[in-house]
Amino acid sequence: MSTSSVLPPQAVHIAELLRRRDHVLVAAHAHPDGDALGSTAAMGWLLRGMGKETALYNATGAPEFLEWLPLPCPLHTELDHLPFRPELLVVLDCGDAHRVGEALAPLLTQLPCINMDHHLGNPEFGTLYNWVEPSMAATGQMAAAVARAAGAPLTGALAEAVYLSLVTDTGGFAFGNTSADVFRLAAELADGGLDVAAVRERLDNQWTLPRMRLWSHLLRHFMVRREGSVALAVAARADLEACGARKEDMEGFVEHLRRLRGVRVAGLVREDAPGRCKLSLRSSGTTDVRAMAAVFGGGGHRNAAGATLALPLAEAREAVLAAVDAGLSAQDGDRPRPHGGE
Ligand code: 5GP
Ligand code: MN
Repeated sequence: MSTSSVLPPQAVHIAELLRRRDHVLVAAHAHPDGDALGSTAAMGWLLRGMGKETALYNATGAPEFLEWLPLPCPLHTELDHLPFRPELLVVLDCGDAHRVGEALAPLLTQLPCINMDHHLGNPEFGTLYNWVEPSMAATGQMAAAVARAAGAPLTGALAEAVYLSLVTDTGGFAFGNTSADVFRLAAELADGGLDVAAVRERLDNQWTLPRMRLWSHLLRHFMVRREGSVALAVAARADLEACGARKEDMEGFVEHLRRLRGVRVAGLVREDAPGRCKLSLRSSGTTDVRAMAAVFGGGGHRNAAGATLALPLAEAREAVLAAVDAGLSAQDGDRPRPHGGE
């Protein structure tokens, strides 16, 4: 028996809570990545297997690069047209309640809510139960544990969804969160008949020309600061439009930027609307970017964090450079220095 078959008590408890309700709404953070959508799908397949009335919700829907993922039922983007009134909410991969989006957030306090997440600093907003486990590599890993607790086989579409979560949040089994349990779970999915190569083929080699053009633009224009330890790219709406690209085409770029030798913090500031920007930060090892994102009210993990800034692009860029500089100085135990020039 592998150690991954030792069930966390929280997973057992959640499986029991699911058994007691019949109408369940499953949601994850807006602008879902592979873990948010993968864990949504995995919980959906599990609930369907348990014979529950299930609805899936995501404020912004599925991005094009994940449209291939099989879902057990439609993914709703509006709450008005749900097929039933939910008795229970399962909220996945949301480090904060507001990440589900403006429409659903108020309901989180009005309905019994299970909060399953792996983000450090999650305020445990679940009104019925909270399972917040930062040592989990992906929320999909937690969903797999609940499935196991419920006695569901980790095969078929459920396995595919869990695998997508794992691949996404471990950077293809490469980040520091790739624990032995992650490998054991992946092995179990493969044992269950999962076509690993088919999933990868759907994820890779699918770049559109606008995406390639946007990355090319960002790679030509990113800035390097603090003796090469900080790399920051800035994407104006006009840049996206010029390339014919969409927000989701930037997925993965900040990880790419982190590859530059000597870079400790890689960042991407994306203009979402005039006066509103989205920040993504990545680091390696002990460098903590969550603390830097927290300056702007954001959060995430030590090596991957983000925030939304209510600032025009140029000001956001300067504020981010200052926060990263101050964060590195504080973490290194030295005094802040001006971030200008190389
Ligand atoms: P990304 O840069 O890919 O959007 O997000 C990186 C990590 O930071 C993810 O774990 C994500 O959940 C978290 N994150 C991104 N934006 C925010 C935010 O505005 N608030 C919080 N609390 N976490 C965020
Ligand atoms: Mn996640």
